[in-house]
This record gives sequence, structure tokens and C-alpha cells, in this order.
Amino acid sequence: MSVTQEATQGVIPAQLLKGQKALVTGGNSGIGRATAIGLGRAGADVVVNYVAGREQAEQVVEEISGFGVRAAAYEADVSQENQVVAMIERMTQEFGTIDILVANAGLQRDAPLTEMTMAQWQKVLDVNLTGQFLCAREAAKEFLRRGVVPEVSRAAGKIICMSSVHQLIPWAGHVNYAASKGGVQMMMETLAQELAPHRIRVNAIAPGAIRTPINRSAWDTPNAEKDLLQLIPYGRVGDPEDIARAAVGLASDLMDYVVGATLYVDGGMTLFPGFATGG
Ligand code: NAP
Repeated sequence: MSVTQEATQGVIPAQLLKGQKALVTGGNSGIGRATAIGLGRAGADVVVNYVAGREQAEQVVEEISGFGVRAAAYEADVSQENQVVAMIERMTQEFGTIDILVANAGLQRDAPLTEMTMAQWQKVLDVNLTGQFLCAREAAKEFLRRGVVPEVSRAAGKIICMSSVHQLIPWAGHVNYAASKGGVQMMMETLAQELAPHRIRVNAIAPGAIRTPINRSAWDTPNAEKDLLQLIPYGRVGDPEDIARAAVGLASDLMDYVVGATLYVDGGMTLFPGFATGG
């Protein structure tokens, strides 16, 4: 068990999300996996969505079940409207409702601008932006239908969009990804404005550099890690559990008055560390 996993175990209150039903897209790997486990540890029942990694998803379900809550793995491609509609319908049938959506699924298809194909551009926009839109739309329908249940939560529903520091920091060679996350920011803020009167809270988490398969080449050699650390004032690469703790907090009533915010969980990456000694 890593240091941050132990920290998560001690830090997350076991009953914080008791009785709530959460869906985490891309819940079988990296940040989504840690977040699904964190939500389960906090007492929520959890649906772990995946598109290809069924075995990993089933392992996550097993781990979450160990907390005495309910969990299930649902396959769905979040960029496909019919699959998202079916996934939320299935969840409302099997779990009764949905209280928390963590729209986390995402990917990269990197290339310099002049070499980026239409397929690379479109795939990233489809999964990272359209996927979040579809999941948010379908979850919001159920939040609106059900309304607030005071014994469960002060809000009728919570949506957490997994964005990135690249909603703010331009990223050469990754125009599709940076554009998708810039889109997530404005989508999140617009949905937050639209849904707040219905007591639905929409927020985002913008992770910095977190050790997951998506960015392995950035941290898995000592040289790569050294370069990466130049960008992180706090002096360590993030772990998925750093994001999980933030997501559990944002989803809970502890943060009931947080609406339309982006929580940067980045060890200070967005503090322009290059200016610490110059500028
Ligand atoms: P990861 O370990 O590669 O996980 C990506 C997840 O997205 C996987 O579970 C994958 O499922 C799922 N996914 C991909 N396409 C999908 C689709 N069409 N439908 C449903 N699920 C799909 O990467 P990660 O780092 O945890 O990334 C999670 C989120 O955090 C992403 O939105 C990413 O942009 C964001 N983020 C990550 C970092 C970082 O440093 N790691 C920083 C900023 C933001 P399968 O395994 O089944 O394909």
C-alpha cells in the first residue's frame, strides 16, 4: 500500500457519503479507479464504468464491496449517446437512483498540429468533452426527477467533471486534449449556472501531474521525473488518491456551497513556478 493510499484510508470518513449512489466513468484505471474506491470507502454505492478494461473494473468492484457497500461494473463508451442513456437507465433501475456523477473518462491522442489527423482530433473531443456532456445530461435528468432527499444529501445531485491543468495551461503537441479540457471548463460553469437553482452542484477537478497510465512516459524514468518536478512547486508527482480525496470532499455536503468551481489539485503547477526565481 502506498503512503497516499494509507493516508486515504485514515482520512476519508467511512459514513460521509452513506446511502448515496455514485457513478465513476473510466473507473477501472488511474484516477477513476482511486476515486471509485474512495467513494466506496466513504460509504457510497458505486458503479464503475469502463469501456475496455473489464477485468480491472471487476477488481475495483471487488475492492469496493469489501467496504460493505454495493458496487457493479458497467461497460459503456461515454462518447456514444445510446450507451450513456442505457447506462444511466440501468443504474437507476438496479441502484434506485444516482446522486453523484464523476465524469472522469478521458484519453490523449498526441501529435504536432500539422500531423494531427481528423480522427485524433475527433476521438479526444468525443470522449473528453462530448462524453462528459452526455453523462451530465443523463444524470441531471434523474436528479431533476428525484429532487432533494434531505436524509441523503442537501443537494439533488452532484456532478464532478475531471478536467486538467490544461484547461488553463496551453500544451504544445496536444491541441486536441487542451481544447477538450478548455471546453470542459466552460461546459462545467454553464451547467453549474443552469442547474444550481435546482440544487444540483456542478464542479470540476483539475489534476496536475498524477501517476497513471495516461502519462507514464512523463514519470517512469528518473530523468523524466526530474524534469516533471521542475513544474511542481510541492516537490512530488501526484498519486491518484490525491484526486480521490478531493472528489470525495467535493461530492459531500461538507462542500455544499461550492458551485461552479474548479479545484486545482496540482501541487502548485498552476502557480507559474518558472517565475519563482525570475520574471
Ligand atoms: P487512465 O488511467 O488512462 O484512465 C482513463 C480511463 O478512461 C480508463 O478507465 C478508460 O477505460 C477510460 N475511457 C477511455 N475512453 C473511454 C470511453 N470512450 N468510454 C468510457 N471510458 C473510457 O488515465 P487517468 O490519468 O486516470 O485519466 C482520468 C482522467 O483524468 C482523464 O479525464 C484525464 O484527462 C484526467 N487527467 C489526468 C491527469 C494525469 O496526470 N494522470 C492529469 C490531468 C487530468 P478503459 O481502460 O476501459 O479503456
